[in-house]
Amino acid sequence: MLNQSFYSELENERISIVDVFKTVLSRGFIKKPSLRGQALYDLSELPNFAHLPFAYFCPVESFKHFKLNRQLLDAVADMGYSAPTAIQQKAIPAILGGQDVLGIAQTGTGKTAAYLLPLLRVLNYAQGKDARALIIVPTRELSIQVGKSIADLGKYTDLRHAVVFGGHGTKEQIAAIESGIDILVASPGRYLDLYLQGHINARKLKHLVLDEAERLMDKSFIGQFHRILETMPQKKQNMMFSATMSELVMKISGDLLDFPVVINIKPDMKTADTVSQAFFAVPNLRTKLNLLVTLLNDETAFYKVIVFCKTKTIASNTGKYLQRLYGEENVLVIHGNKTQQTRINSMLRFRNENVRILITTDLAARGLDVPDVSHVINFDIPIIYEDYVHRIGRTGRAFLTGHSLTFVNMADEYHLKKIEKLIGQKIPELPIPEGLEIPETGYEEQQELLREIDRQKRKENPDFRGAFHEKKVPATGGERSKSKMPGKIAAKKAGGKRK
Ligand code: AMP
Repeated sequence: MLNQSFYSELENERISIVDVFKTVLSRGFIKKPSLRGQALYDLSELPNFAHLPFAYFCPVESFKHFKLNRQLLDAVADMGYSAPTAIQQKAIPAILGGQDVLGIAQTGTGKTAAYLLPLLRVLNYAQGKDARALIIVPTRELSIQVGKSIADLGKYTDLRHAVVFGGHGTKEQIAAIESGIDILVASPGRYLDLYLQGHINARKLKHLVLDEAERLMDKSFIGQFHRILETMPQKKQNMMFSATMSELVMKISGDLLDFPVVINIKPDMKTADTVSQAFFAVPNLRTKLNLLVTLLNDETAFYKVIVFCKTKTIASNTGKYLQRLYGEENVLVIHGNKTQQTRINSMLRFRNENVRILITTDLAARGLDVPDVSHVINFDIPIIYEDYVHRIGRTGRAFLTGHSLTFVNMADEYHLKKIEKLIGQKIPELPIPEGLEIPETGYEEQQELLREIDRQKRKENPDFRGAFHEKKVPATGGERSKSKMPGKIAAKKAGGKRK
């Protein structure tokens, strides 16, 4: 084990891993390393590195370099994965080495296989009746997705799994558990229900994964989380994956993980590589619709598109509008009001059939995994900023390139800046397409935008008294509303073709 003075010698924030090894070697800790690269690693990862196998430090170009077995390598080949992604390079050796892991990585980085492959390897073959690994996920969609990945990656093993989540009858889920399983995928509430009813025996659990942990972190989960932990043996390997590091995620990881290996796949690394991002300044809803249609008319470039809306109503209305234009068979709508089965069917159809456009809300899109999405269009900017990262993670997945386009009205500029801060990146603006019809902003909509801007100002400065009431706008909107638009959005409005 390396001591603290070693770390304090490494003062620079980023250092060459070769230098680290030279130092380690010179102190006689390790003999005969076989270094294959000179990659730079974050100093934050170092405190645990003395426990780790070499593979963790060396860029691994092939799955063959991990200690996986033939059954898993064949399944990986069938999936068409030619090389491990960044998180897989780091997580697979750490998990195989029995370490606790904190993975900060968004969906789309290959994190599911990053924990499933080593888990499947360690569990090895079907054994006994009760689950030895538990994967807790926030939503039904994600639980189904993880279940599918287990089936795909474990198809040449005899390992058994069950997926349990709320909103579905328990009969089949109980039967699946009672037939004997090695891995259980569960939403927190359903896990506790089935445990309390005596259908789950947690005594054999040796591995726990919290997936999309940031989405598990609402108040009800915190209570459930400690109860879930109480059901399990204390000695086990714990892993947590989260797209972001909120205070709650930090707290839970502190409670759960023992000297974890921290793997930080920063969003900007991913977005820089595979997703181009841009925004359009649009003054109002009707312009958004016109712009959306103009973009979607280019069927070659926009060949598989997810459109995100902030509410069920907007998703539903936008969906109906697009269905009239492009035909019902080409446009699917999913949101919280649809039944669970309809949502799953729509997701499968969008994934597997030739359906070009999916309109959705953030909630309904959780766990959505479609391999080749050309564009994510944020018809409404997300106001939970982490959702932006999740949304754009739907495109550019695993080595494919994708595009994210965000529609921004004058009240959204505030959120755009916050998102840019979160992802540590400026999102460039694209000009509105030539000749786009830009209708006037209606009175109601204009008022709502101004009210929203006041709310934002009050949030930033509680003493702000509100300019809104002094700004009564005439019922027609028109030139008045133009003058009230800040900077670029007002300019866009003036530049477009008026109705
Ligand atoms: P995830 O981040 O787990 O949601 O994975 C996103 C997508 O990447 C899924 O469609 C996976 O099947 C795919 N994927 C995972 N690992 C790889 C890999 N090494 N190469 C190519 N695709 C991958």
